[in-house]
Amino acid sequence: MTPLSPSVNYMMSPGGNGDVKYARYGNTPTADALHRRLAALEGADSALVLSSGMGATTCTLLALLRAGDHVVASAWLYGDTRRFLEIELPTMGIDVTFIDPTETRAWRRAMRLNTRVLFLESPVNPSMRVVDLRPARMLAQEQGVALVVDSTFATPINYRPLEHRADVVLHSATKYLNGHHDVLAGVVCGAESVIEEVRAKMAIWGQAPDPFAVWLLERGLKTLDVRVQRQNASALQIAQWASGVSSIRAVHYPGLPSHPDHEIARAMFDGYGGMLAIELTGGDEAAARVVSRLALFTHAPSLGGVESLVSEPRYTSHRQLDSEARAAMGIPSGFLRLSVGLEGVDDLIADLTQALES
Ligand code: PLP
Repeated sequence: MTPLSPSVNYMMSPGGNGDVKYARYGNTPTADALHRRLAALEGADSALVLSSGMGATTCTLLALLRAGDHVVASAWLYGDTRRFLEIELPTMGIDVTFIDPTETRAWRRAMRLNTRVLFLESPVNPSMRVVDLRPARMLAQEQGVALVVDSTFATPINYRPLEHRADVVLHSATKYLNGHHDVLAGVVCGAESVIEEVRAKMAIWGQAPDPFAVWLLERGLKTLDVRVQRQNASALQIAQWASGVSSIRAVHYPGLPSHPDHEIARAMFDGYGGMLAIELTGGDEAAARVVSRLALFTHAPSLGGVESLVSEPRYTSHRQLDSEARAAMGIPSGFLRLSVGLEGVDDLIADLTQALES
């Protein structure tokens, strides 16, 4: 990875305000303890909690990039991440090229002399595709650029990208890391030098988490392992059941052998996660009907918590795209995303069964 340009980390540098404890600097005792836990979970030198997943993404990219730099990014990204890369970065003189991450050579073809960051999300929200890290990782190492991975869907229980030699890992901690749908937070993990740059951006851009969110997130993390293990098991069972339902055209879950990236997931993941997507034969009309009938699955855009949620990306994360563009990203009509919670799996399947009855 290229050494970062001269540090803007005046606040935390020796002789700066680093010894001053202040929540906006992210250095309160509770935050320090949480950072150590998160770093241990991801196998990182260092970790930092920010005000949201988007806060983590934006401050990380602001820390790694300068005007005149270039980013190669997977085209399959959470909607607001994509908008930051596509709309905000160019206004700062930073170019971005989007590629199809399943095309192994696409990363290399998009490289320029001024490329500084490769960016991807895996598993992808909401298509559930799994991106093979190897081509991007090999290129990042060879060219000395940073490979940044948004690992929100996987959690460090199922997948630790740093073990596969990514440089920086991002999370929307609003989701699994907290796990109770009551916190907005983001996490970045990586080398100490990078995290200190992100911390400086966080302080200046006002992206530090509220101290109560830090405390709640620390509480949520205590049950991360048991929650994710159960969500892995329930989601797999629902995916297997859904594969045999005639009104469901396709099931997208990396744990199914029929999934296009099953072999990649099997090689990289310890579990396949609590997220899955289904495509209904009846299209958007059927999707709307099923959503209105579901009782245990709440219709809401978030994910990764103790309660099961259902969402229609056409109204949430990918609402800015037209139906053709959504279909090209693996979100055709009749697509529903399910976030499996901790309810009894038989009850969840019964709920889906009654909602799907025509
Ligand atoms: N990354 C992924 C994969 C997400 O799904 C989300 C939100 O859904 C984010 C980042 C942004 O997280 P937040 O809403 O905490 O800002």
